[in-house]
Amino acid sequence: MQIAALATYRPTWADARGRRTLGSDEDVATLAVSAGRLLGGRLTSVQRVVLVTRRPDALLGTAPEVVLEGLGLDPSTPLVEQIGGAPATLETLLGSAEGTLVLAVDPVAPAASAAALVGPGGITLDGRAGARHSVPVRTVPLPGATDLTYDDPRLLREGGWKRVVRELAGSAEGERHLVIAGVTAADAAKIARGASGVAETEAAAPLLLLARLAGSRSPARLVAVENGHGVAVDVTVAGAVPVLAAERSAHPAPVTWAPSVAADIPASPAAYARAFEAKVGLKAGVCSCGELNYPPRAQCQSCGVLEPQRLQPLPRAATVYSVVTVRANVPGKTVPYSLAVVDVDGTGVRVLAHVTDDPPGAAPIGSPGELVLRRVATRAGVPDYGYAFQPEEQQA
Ligand SMILES: [Zn+2]
Repeated sequence: MQIAALATYRPTWADARGRRTLGSDEDVATLAVSAGRLLGGRLTSVQRVVLVTRRPDALLGTAPEVVLEGLGLDPSTPLVEQIGGAPATLETLLGSAEGTLVLAVDPVAPAASAAALVGPGGITLDGRAGARHSVPVRTVPLPGATDLTYDDPRLLREGGWKRVVRELAGSAEGERHLVIAGVTAADAAKIARGASGVAETEAAAPLLLLARLAGSRSPARLVAVENGHGVAVDVTVAGAVPVLAAERSAHPAPVTWAPSVAADIPASPAAYARAFEAKVGLKAGVCSCGELNYPPRAQCQSCGVLEPQRLQPLPRAATVYSVVTVRANVPGKTVPYSLAVVDVDGTGVRVLAHVTDDPPGAAPIGSPGELVLRRVATRAGVPDYGYAFQPEEQQA
């Protein structure tokens, strides 16, 4: 099978160990959209979406609908949720037809997301081989745990990873370099001499490695391993492959994102349903007079006519028109935070949005940036999505 384009995304915040971690307004749905949207106009060819993650709890709720709307895809597009780590992503790719968008999301540090569009292109995967052994170790955390728990690291390494890689690395000889997904780069080097990997160890890892191979154009044997099972393919790169990467410089994450004053915000199903498409798809109402109304209204704010308005997606590029940094405690919010009114470039539309991915106060009036899908609130436990303003990164 072939891959037409790849995209990779790493969140901006770093934990105390320097690993990328999610901001308070990010989750599996926003990470999936952040990677997928990098593919831009190529998304028009998407026929089917598969969302792969090792964290099933993160998929409960509205994630699939939010992902489709956030990517600007038709809500009737088939979307399959796939639970699994690195081997699941590779198996998904190998089993996918042209027009499939594979989104792999790792929400736990080291956090990342990645997207691959299956179709004629410069990366070919072939020579699939698989191995499966039962290793009696526990690798799924108990509810409430934030990290993987390995009962016996030595057993996992020797009886799991090493055994699988030894069986599957077969054709990694001559000029084919061995790359291993599913363990850290440091572990990859220990498992097999000369092997390399990435820091991320879950579903996004194979796509992050493919993106790197596409850049270097080097042929490789890719082994994706988890516990006692694995899958391997030969990777051949021929010609230029679009690899879209978004990775801002890291900022240290606060010790906690918990608000200092808790809030119990009720959910309104009617308001949620009414606003969903405009809020999650960033769509304005278009009046027959040509005025763009955001948020969409029953009555045009320019000519006053009362008529149904067609929804139209707004561009994402925006500029700060006015901004304030809130330092007083706000129930349910982590303070301080910056709140901005931004001009959506070239539309005359102004949007009120939180500033995200930068320390508070870092985006003065006139700052260029982009509106990005984020989880803007949680109401009665239900995530509510909308747009935040991500300032363009300052060039040092
Ligand atoms: Zn009008």
